[in-house]
Amino acid sequence: MNAKKSAAPGKWISRQECLADASYTCNLFCKYCHNPPSGGRTEIENVIARVRRGKVKAVSLEGRGEPTTNPRLPELISGLRAAGVKNVMLSTNAVALADKKLCARIARGVDFFTVNFPSHVEEVYNGATRSVKYRQAVKGLRNLAALGLEGKVRFFHIIFRDNYKLLPGFVEWVRSAHPGCSLVNFTFVRNKGRVNDERAIVPNYAESAPYIKIALAKAKLAGLRAVIQNMPLCALKSFEGFSFEYQRWRRGDEPLEEGIERPAPSAACRKCALSPACCGARPDYLRIYGDKELKPSSAAPASIKPERF
Ligand code: SF4
Ligand code: SF4
Repeated sequence: MNAKKSAAPGKWISRQECLADASYTCNLFCKYCHNPPSGGRTEIENVIARVRRGKVKAVSLEGRGEPTTNPRLPELISGLRAAGVKNVMLSTNAVALADKKLCARIARGVDFFTVNFPSHVEEVYNGATRSVKYRQAVKGLRNLAALGLEGKVRFFHIIFRDNYKLLPGFVEWVRSAHPGCSLVNFTFVRNKGRVNDERAIVPNYAESAPYIKIALAKAKLAGLRAVIQNMPLCALKSFEGFSFEYQRWRRGDEPLEEGIERPAPSAACRKCALSPACCGARPDYLRIYGDKELKPSSAAPASIKPERF
């Protein structure tokens, strides 16, 4: 995610400045990374000055790498607070949080954590991240829980070829390992960055939808809040109320966050009554699968019952 508008768990924050230059490298090498680090570095003093000038009140530290690999992250967070920022969201893979002291130091200044965690199955996690850091990430999550911060954790679970059949199991794992987390945010992988048109990474909507729906139903039954992002409403038949973009529309925001590529123009969407509240399909998805899965609807968006969010 690299937009200015975003949701923070437990609280709707309509304007949130994404500080993509909080990091410049990463400690993982995810095969689906759509915004890989460039190595280009901005000194934190410049980031803080920009935020102060803009009178920004809510920031997300994310994008172009892993913020916890920036050794000046604690300084950056305290500098942002001094510049008037009230809400700080940290997007992290939690690997560096395996260090208890660092975890506690960083956690002091953070209101919400979005944890990019691609699988509860060690082998799948390590394959996705091209690392052997599953156990460190799990330890990082446990450290957050030990600090009493589980309620501030939102799981960001990118759905891709190797994990889509495991989504119901992922919900069961969250339920038993981190029942107090605030949200499970499933996100359908984007065909961007390292993905490079690879069908071996991007599943199609039709094959993944049944597993997504079972996972959403399981989350609901377990009392876990869950949303699905970057999945068209017509691919979520009977589960449309879990759509993140639909939830944004219900709150009066544009379905797509600022900075996110607009949906692909498609004949189906042009005649669909749901289009004002739908994320549509991305042009990079249609480039590999075409638009034959998109089905227009005559239902009014307001007729969809939103799920708990
Ligand atoms: S997806 Fe996140 S954790 Fe993975 S390589 Fe990209 S920046 Fe790093
Ligand atoms: S046809 Fe297009 S606008 Fe309608 S639900 Fe499908 S993707 Fe969304």
